[in-house]
Amino acid sequence: MKVRESRWTRWFLLSATAIVMLGCTRFQELTVRRHITSSLTDAEANAILLNATTVLKTATVPGDVACCVEFERDGPVTTFTTGTGSINSGADFSAVIALPGYVKVVNAINWCGGLIPGIIGCAPVPGNSFVVVRFTPILEGILWAHEYGHTKGLGHRNDTTAVMNPFIGITGMGVNSAECSAFLAGGSQRLFRFCGGQTN
Ligand SMILES: [Zn+2]
Repeated sequence: MKVRESRWTRWFLLSATAIVMLGCTRFQELTVRRHITSSLTDAEANAILLNATTVLKTATVPGDVACCVEFERDGPVTTFTTGTGSINSGADFSAVIALPGYVKVVNAINWCGGLIPGIIGCAPVPGNSFVVVRFTPILEGILWAHEYGHTKGLGHRNDTTAVMNPFIGITGMGVNSAECSAFLAGGSQRLFRFCGGQTN
């Protein structure tokens, strides 16, 4: 009886380990907030996070890896009242970045390390929060993935097929293996969640 229990326990531990290793998807749970004057519903945030997930998970060009990250919204979209909803200075940026929450939606960003009128996203590199404006729906997933990449320490890569390309475009959906490692870092794993047999 003792022997059988021991074998069963060993089998269970080996199986559980194998499942954890196969279940490579890493979940990144992001709290999402908006300035009180800007708009973003829970459903819209979900759609953007799903789009960002698809961008990272889908290998589209040579050198692009299927990066098994799933973004999820952590709690409802909440509002904040700090500032005017426009980022016009380093002080404005710091004040919004310092607020609790990971994603901060504002109406305008005219400062990102310097005065740069009309940009669509800005993040500290690395950091634990980023600011974005609402943008063309089909590109918002790329935008959020890009700014998230900055918070994980990634810089720009001048390649129109790269998520980390400094200029946004529909072709910019690629991440290489080094970038994927940064996106995966710190994410939680769950049992029985697979990612198309990919192991990166
Ligand atoms: Zn950037």
